[in-house]
Amino acid sequence: VSTLMIGKENRVEELKKDYVVTGMTSDGLFRILAVRSTLTVEEGRRRHNTSKTATAALGRVMTGALLMASTLDEDQSVTLRVLGDGPAGGIISEAMRTDKEVLVRGYMGNPNADLLLNDKSKLDVGGIVGNNGYVHVTKDLGLREQYTGSAQIQSGEIGIDLAYYYTVSEQLPTALSLGVRIGGRTRTSELSESKSSFWVTGAGGIMVQVMPGRSPEEGGEAAQLIQENLEKMGSVSYRIQEGAWLEELILDTFQDISKVELMDRFPVRFACKCSRDRAESTLLSVGKKELVNLAEEQEITEVRCHFCNESYSFSSEDLLKIASEIEGEK
Ligand SMILES: [Zn+2]
Repeated sequence: VSTLMIGKENRVEELKKDYVVTGMTSDGLFRILAVRSTLTVEEGRRRHNTSKTATAALGRVMTGALLMASTLDEDQSVTLRVLGDGPAGGIISEAMRTDKEVLVRGYMGNPNADLLLNDKSKLDVGGIVGNNGYVHVTKDLGLREQYTGSAQIQSGEIGIDLAYYYTVSEQLPTALSLGVRIGGRTRTSELSESKSSFWVTGAGGIMVQVMPGRSPEEGGEAAQLIQENLEKMGSVSYRIQEGAWLEELILDTFQDISKVELMDRFPVRFACKCSRDRAESTLLSVGKKELVNLAEEQEITEVRCHFCNESYSFSSEDLLKIASEIEGEK
């Protein structure tokens, strides 16, 4: 595709990585963001050992958080909590914009939640998320400035719920398409029933939004045409799986509507802030007496990070050493 702007320094390996692209229509009325999150969602699946449907649900929430974070400035972050009444439990994802990347992590209440395909032969994300509950969005804008907004879950399919959130809570009319595709081994082997027999083959999303500060009415007719183009385009995750560039998807979205100026292009990946030091701080907060008890009860105590499922092990000796650092209590 001739419209791509990829420098020589980008090797083939680099081109396979996840990324996000942002742009704006030349009249400044709409912004558009597109993200490829295939490897990122696969990393989430691997870490949390999610079922097929849970992989799609967690993946869509993480991809939505990535799009949201990509609207922010450097060093700002967003936490997205989708708390439905379905078997998935809550799904939480946090995404952060740094100076050169957009990072995301996420987890869910029940990674085993799974259902049969829905009546459209798709993974039943809405079914495991549930259509009663709330989407909560907290943006950390730095300098102790936080913004929180909420909206009711509409379908539990995530894309439509986040679009609704933006429209009612932030008064930003938004069209959003999110998807996760899963493939796997077709032959039956000894591994065929295990969760490692499938993986993410394509994941991503597109978001079109009226620019903050512009009146939604200005976009009226174009918004309808954008929606039609998005429907014509079909599944974003399928296009991504088949190797489409995000830049192509953006141009397709605005075909015959408006010119788009591409703005930023950032790498995207799964990343967590946890560390052994942080796990130690968690243990410190448990209290001296409890740590001594734990040290006596078991040889190894594990501290597991919710967000990435990484486990940090501490021996009884480690625990007693940490306990000895706590003053005051006996
Ligand atoms: Zn972690």
